[in-house]
Amino acid sequence: MTTQAIIRTQDCIGCTQCIDACPTNAIIGAPQFLHSIIEQDCIGCERCVPACPVDCIDLAPMSAHYDPEQLTDTAKIERSHYIRALVHTHKERLERIRIQQNQNFAHSKNISATRKAYLDVLFNKTNTNSTSK
Ligand code: SF4
Ligand code: SF4
Repeated sequence: MTTQAIIRTQDCIGCTQCIDACPTNAIIGAPQFLHSIIEQDCIGCERCVPACPVDCIDLAPMSAHYDPEQLTDTAKIERSHYIRALVHTHKERLERIRIQQNQNFAHSKNISATRKAYLDVLFNKTNTNSTSK
């Protein structure tokens, strides 16, 4: 029997840590809001459990509809294609986040350099003006 994750929503603080940890994007929610798990997308990998800072994710038996151990061979293959597509989507999402973070870092470095150049000019100009008077 395969297990799946279940969030005790009354204890969830909406921190989103579990979303990043889940390889199949099976967890939905937004910052500061309750999160829940799409049962058919959960593979029971348990990665979300240690990611949760308030320990509000439990494990329970997976429904027979999705449990690979209880599926027909054909359904098992279809489910495995579906899960592979979910994992691919998750990796793409992480890659987009990584690129965005790099762009933000480059942008803030650029702002720092621009600020420094501006302050240098301002400081020198102030000095120039004060010495030219
Ligand atoms: S057990 Fe794995 S697949 Fe299921 S919600 Fe947690 S991290 Fe996602
Ligand atoms: S990690 Fe835990 S507290 Fe944070 S959003 Fe997920 S379930 Fe809620």
